[in-house]
Amino acid sequence: CGIVAYIGKKEAYPILIKGLKRLEYRGYDSAGIALLDSGKVNLYKRQGKVSNLEEFAAGKNLAGHAGIGHTRWATHGAPNDINAHPHFSNDEKIALIHNGIIENYNSLKEELIVRGYHFRSQTDTEVLVHLIDDIQKKEKVDLAEAVRMALQNVIGAYAIVVISADNPSQLIAARKSSPLVVGIGKENDFYLASDATPIIEYTNQVVYLEDEEIAVVDLVNGLNITNLRNQPKTPYVQELEMQ
Ligand code: GLU
Repeated sequence: CGIVAYIGKKEAYPILIKGLKRLEYRGYDSAGIALLDSGKVNLYKRQGKVSNLEEFAAGKNLAGHAGIGHTRWATHGAPNDINAHPHFSNDEKIALIHNGIIENYNSLKEELIVRGYHFRSQTDTEVLVHLIDDIQKKEKVDLAEAVRMALQNVIGAYAIVVISADNPSQLIAARKSSPLVVGIGKENDFYLASDATPIIEYTNQVVYLEDEEIAVVDLVNGLNITNLRNQPKTPYVQELEMQ
């Protein structure tokens, strides 16, 4: 339902919580965040309001300059703590958030179970993280390429953001039939969100991703966009009017 993500010099947690609150108007049943700190991804998620998540997270390790946050409106799997996003790979190195529906998740899930993957949730979303992990290990490609290859196998609608303990300077995002906006910050930092409301207080420089585009935001290499066929795209930077 709602997506917000950040990478840069600032602490990610306050930006994610504020962003999730800005997205509350869309309606949701659960909320969660994943934060990257010292080569480890810490994940906190809770059924109910963003304020429940804050209470749950209070006192835990909330450090990190990169993170992803999600409010879920359940389509597949009951609204509960386990089905809330983000979803983890089995080795807990990759975390992923998703808006939309993966229509062919059942057949992908069966194949991944045969390949030894263990599913924790009842969501359609969880196949994405295991598929990316499987492709990355099997094909020995980088994370962005694994995301691209995984999405070629997917039927459905998605906006996703992926964070990985092994790629601490990157977030990877992609969309099809679900909106996703990249905000280009003023301090070599980047924001991602399902609409511009969580971004607008930090920057008015945004790029609206098009269908079947994959964006890599990288603290060293900046913003790079390709499509599912691996063709490079030139980001079209728009300036939002500040109200
Ligand atoms: N289909 C996914 C789920 O049920 C994502 C729902 C959403 O867009 O929030 O978990």
